[in-house]
Amino acid sequence: GCGICVKKCPFEAINIINLPKDLERNTTHRFGPNAFKLHRLPTPRPGQVLGLVGTNGIGKSTALKILSGKCKPNLGRYEHPPDWEEILVHFRGSELQNYFTQILEDKMKATIKPQYVDAIPRSANVKGAVGDILKQRDDRSAAEERDVLGWAVREAELGHLLQRDVKVLSGGELQRFAIAVCAVQLSDVYMFDEPSSYLDVKQRLTAAHMIREIVESSKDADRRYVLVVEHDLAVLDYLSDFVCVLYGSPGAYGVVTMPFSVRQGINAFLAGFIPTENLRFREDSLTFKVSERAEADRGDDVMKSYSYPAMTRTQTRGSDKFILHVEKGEFTDSEIIVLLGENGTGKTTFVRMLAGLQKSDEQEKLEAEGYDYEASLAGVPDLNVSYKPQKIAPKFNGSTRELIHKRIREAYVHPQFQSDVMKPLNVEALFDNEVQKLSGGELQRLAITLALGKPADVYLIDEPSAYLDSEQRINCAKVIKRFIMHSKKTAFVVEHDFIMATYLADRVVVYHGEPGVEATATSPQSLLTGMNQFLKSLEVTFRRDPVNFRPRINKKGSQKDQEQKKNGNYFFYD
Ligand code: ADP
Ligand code: ADP
Ligand code: MG
Ligand code: MG
Repeated sequence: GCGICVKKCPFEAINIINLPKDLERNTTHRFGPNAFKLHRLPTPRPGQVLGLVGTNGIGKSTALKILSGKCKPNLGRYEHPPDWEEILVHFRGSELQNYFTQILEDKMKATIKPQYVDAIPRSANVKGAVGDILKQRDDRSAAEERDVLGWAVREAELGHLLQRDVKVLSGGELQRFAIAVCAVQLSDVYMFDEPSSYLDVKQRLTAAHMIREIVESSKDADRRYVLVVEHDLAVLDYLSDFVCVLYGSPGAYGVVTMPFSVRQGINAFLAGFIPTENLRFREDSLTFKVSERAEADRGDDVMKSYSYPAMTRTQTRGSDKFILHVEKGEFTDSEIIVLLGENGTGKTTFVRMLAGLQKSDEQEKLEAEGYDYEASLAGVPDLNVSYKPQKIAPKFNGSTRELIHKRIREAYVHPQFQSDVMKPLNVEALFDNEVQKLSGGELQRLAITLALGKPADVYLIDEPSAYLDSEQRINCAKVIKRFIMHSKKTAFVVEHDFIMATYLADRVVVYHGEPGVEATATSPQSLLTGMNQFLKSLEVTFRRDPVNFRPRINKKGSQKDQEQKKNGNYFFYD
C-alpha cells in the first residue's frame, strides 16, 4: 500500500504486511532497472514432483527458466551480471549448489513443456506431423527398453492425430502433444508449465498420471527432477509430492517459500499466510464450503421457475457427425447449474441452444413445417439470456472503458455492480488499455464483467477459469456466486476446474457418451448425485480438506479411494 490508507488499498491486489528482512540478500534475478525481481528459488528434489503455486506475474515461469539453465540468474545485478563461479558461491551450502553445478557442466539436461502451447506451431524447431516429431524426440523408449512412445500416444489421446500437421492442432490437442513431447524425452529435469490449460477433467487426470510416471516407473526415476506450475489446485494437489508458494506483488517482485507438504503449501496459499515465516501476504483467506447457497430473504417475491423440453441436436461437418441428446430439465432463479463433461460431449452446443444461437433438430423440423419457431413449444423457453462464449475474440477497436460504456453502461453506474463485480475482478485497472491488446486473463475478466453486466434472466458462462490464475479463479467464482444470489438470476456454467466447479454448483448436468460422436446431457440433478455419477465415470474419488473444505482427489488405490469406491461414495465421503 501507499502507507496512508489504513484499510487495504483497492488498487493493490496484494498487501504484504511483514516482508522477510533478508530479501535483498536473496535476490536471484532482476530483469532490469525497475523491472521484475525474483527472490530465492524453489529447490527441486530428485525422484519427486515439486508443485509451484502463485498468482500470474509472480515469477513462476522465470523460476523454471532459471532452473532449466535457459536464464542465467544475475543475483539482482543486471548491469554487471556475475559469472557462474560467483553464482555458485551464492548458492553454496544449499541443495541448489549441486543442482546448478550439474546444469552448468551439462551433466543434466532439462526439458520444458512451455506455458504458451499456442506458440508451438510458430516455433522453428517443431515442424511437421505429430507422429514424426514424437518419434524423433523419443529417446526414452531405447534407454528404458520399452515402448514409452506408444504409452505417451495412448495416454495423451494422440493416436488419431499422428499424421496431422502441428499447425492445425486445437488448443487441447496442442497441450496433449506438448506434454507427450516432454514426457518421451530422456532428461534429468522435467518441467511442466501450466499443463492443464485447455484440458477437460479427464484429460487433466491423465496428464497428472503422465507427469507422475516420470518419477515413478523407470529405473532412473529416482534421479529425475520434476517441476510443475499449475493453477487447477485440485490437479496440483494430486500430482505434487511437495509445494513451494510464490507470493509478492505481481509484475514487481516475487518471493519463493521453502518447500511445504502438498496439503500445507496449498492451504498456506489459500489462507494467504506462510506459517513458517509468520507472514501474511493476503488479507482475506480463501475458503469454500461445498455450496454456500445463501438463503436470501425473499420478501414477497415468488421464486421463478423455468423448464426446457427434451431436445436433440445433430451437428454435421463433412462426413463427421455428432449427436447431442438433452434430457428435459427445470431450473429456478438464484441457482447455479454447472455442466460437467469431457471435451466434445456438447456442453457448448447445449449452452448455445439455451442462448437461442443454435436450434434443436426439433425446432428446425417444426420450422420446416411452417411453424413459428419463436412460439413453438419444441424449443427452449423464450428467455432473456446473456452469454459468455468459450472462445473470446474481441473485434472491438478501442479501450476497455469505451467498450464497457458502450455495452453495459447501466450496470457500470450501479453501485452494487461496481462492488460485486467490477472491483473484485479489478476491471478498472484495465480501463485505459486497448481491448485488442489485453492478455488472456485480462480478456477473461472483461468478458465475465460484460456478460454479468447485461440484464437477463439466465447467464450462460462457458469456461470462465481459462487463462485465470488460481487466485483469480476463486475471486471469479465468488463474483459469479454473489451476483447470481443477489440478483436472483440463474447461471449455467461450464467449468473444468474441480474446485471452481464444486464451489459454484448448486446442481449439475452430467454429460455421458462418446466425445465427438454421441452424448447425452442429464437433467439438472443434485450436486451429490451428479458428482457421484461424474466421478464414477472418471474412476476417481474426492475427499474434503477439513480446514478450508476444498475438494481433494484421493490417490488412486489409496485406502480412502478403495473404501469410497466400494461404498459408491465418490464425492465427499467425510
Ligand atoms: P508467472 O509465470 O508467475 O506468471 P513470469 O515469471 O512469467 O510470471 O513473469 C514475472 C514477471 O517478470 C512479469 O511481470 C513479467 O512481465 C516479467 N518478465 C518476464 N520475463 C521478462 C523479461 N525477459 N524481461 C523483463 N521482464 C520479464
Ligand atoms: P464441448 O463444449 O463439450 O467440448 P461442443 O459442444 O463444442 O463440445 O462440441 C461437441 C461436438 O460437436 C464436437 O465433436 C464438435 O467437433 C462438434 N461440433 C461443434 N460445433 C459444430 C458445428 N458447427 N458443426 C459440426 N460439428 C460441430
Ligand atoms: Mg508463467
Ligand atoms: Mg465447450
